[in-house]
Amino acid sequence: ADEAAPAIAVAKDRSRVLGGTYRTFYSEPLTVASARGCTITDANGEDYLDAYNNVPVLGHSSPAVRSAVSAELGRANSHTRYLDARVIDYARRLIDRFPAHFESVVFACSGSEANDLALRLAAHATGRDGVIVTRHAYHGTTSAVAAISPSLVGTEVGEHVEPIDLPAWDAADFDDLLAEAIAGAARRLEVRGHPLGAFILDSTVTSDGILEPRSLAATAGAVRSHGGLWIADEVQSGFGRTGADWGFQRLDLIPDLVTLGKPMGNGLPISAVLGPREIFDDFGAEQRYFNTFAGTAVPVAAAEVVLTALESGDLVARAQEGGRLLENLLIDAIESSATPALVRRNGLMVGIDFETGGITTESAVERAKEMVERLYAERILVSTTGRAGTVLKIRPPLVITDDELRELASGFARVLARGEAEAAHAGE
Ligand code: PMP
Repeated sequence: ADEAAPAIAVAKDRSRVLGGTYRTFYSEPLTVASARGCTITDANGEDYLDAYNNVPVLGHSSPAVRSAVSAELGRANSHTRYLDARVIDYARRLIDRFPAHFESVVFACSGSEANDLALRLAAHATGRDGVIVTRHAYHGTTSAVAAISPSLVGTEVGEHVEPIDLPAWDAADFDDLLAEAIAGAARRLEVRGHPLGAFILDSTVTSDGILEPRSLAATAGAVRSHGGLWIADEVQSGFGRTGADWGFQRLDLIPDLVTLGKPMGNGLPISAVLGPREIFDDFGAEQRYFNTFAGTAVPVAAAEVVLTALESGDLVARAQEGGRLLENLLIDAIESSATPALVRRNGLMVGIDFETGGITTESAVERAKEMVERLYAERILVSTTGRAGTVLKIRPPLVITDDELRELASGFARVLARGEAEAAHAGE
C-alpha cells in the first residue's frame, strides 16, 4: 500500500475486488477510517461533518448501541422459528408507537425487503396488483421493488405500475391535484388489467425532491375509493426524522401498511412491515414468510436503543428544534447571497432546491453538484436528490448539535459566496 496516500490505495483495491454495480460519492471518494457522533474521520486523519446519513440516527459508533449489541452477542442470537422474549417485547413496544389499527409487525433485514413484503401483502389483501408510485420514486432493490422504482437507472417499471407526476411544490391545491392524478392513474391501470392495489409513498418524498408537511387527506381518499391500500414507506421518514415519530403523521392520514428500515437499528440490518392483524393472518394462512436474519435478537437489541430514544421524545425534539435552527441559518445564507434557492424542510430532512429564479434545470443540476463537491472540500458531507438532481439533500444523524448545525450552515454560506465570486471572475 502507498503509505503517503492510504485512501488512494483503498480506492485502487476497491476497483479490483468490488463489482461494478457500486457508485461512490465525490470525484475523490471518502475512505472511512472511523466515525463517532456526526464525525467521520478519513484514512488521512481528516474529520468530516456528516450531514447526510440517516442510518446512525443516534450517531456513529453510539456507545449505547455498541454495548447493547455486544451484550446480546454474548447471550443469544437465533431466528424466529423459536421465541425470544426480547424480540416479542420490542415488537409490542414498536406497535404501541402507532395508531390502533397497526396490530402486527413482521421483521425483515432491509428497506427493500420490507417494501417487497408490503407489496405482496397489499396484492394478497386486495386481490389487485396495480401500483401507483411517484415519478422519481425509489423503494429499493429487489426485482419487485425495482419494478416500482422509476428513479433506478436502467430499470423499466412494470406494466402493473403507474408513475405519477407530483403537482408543483407550492401549489395551493396540491392535495386535490395529487388526488386527481391518482384517479387518472387508477383508471389507466384498470384498462391495462391491473386494477389498483396500492399507492406507495415515501412520506418525505425524498427522491422526488423532499415534500414539506401538508395534508394529503384527499389523496388518501382517492387511493381508497379506487380500491388501493396506502403503503407508507417510512424507510427515510421514520423514527423522528420529520419531527414526529412517523412521517405520515405530518401528512394528515393513516396508512394501511407501514414499512420501516434505515435508522431502525442505527446501522444494524433490521426493517419491518406493520399493519392490521387480519392482513398478515390472511396472507399467513396461505403463504409463509421466513427471513433468516430478520428479527433476530442482536439487531433487535440495537433497535431497542433507537426506540427508547424515540419514546423519550429526544429524536423528535431534535428534528423539530435542530431543523428550525438549520432552516433559519440556511435561509439567511441564501438571502445574503445572489444565488436563488428554495429551502424545503420536513424536520431534519432539508432540501435546498436550486431550480428557481429562472435558471435552466441543467444549470441547477450543475450548481447542486458543484455545491456537494465544494462542501466536501470544506469537510461537510451532503448529497443531491430530486427529479433531475437539483436539490441538495441534508439529512444528518438526529444527535447533531446546534454548534454542528452552525458549522454546516456557515460552510454552506462560504461555499455559496465562493461560487459567486468565481462566477463573477469568470464573467470579467
Ligand atoms: N425506501 C426508501 C424511501 C429508501 O430511501 C430506500 C433506500 N435508499 C429503500 C426503500 C431501500 O432500503 P434498503 O437500501 O435498506 O433496501
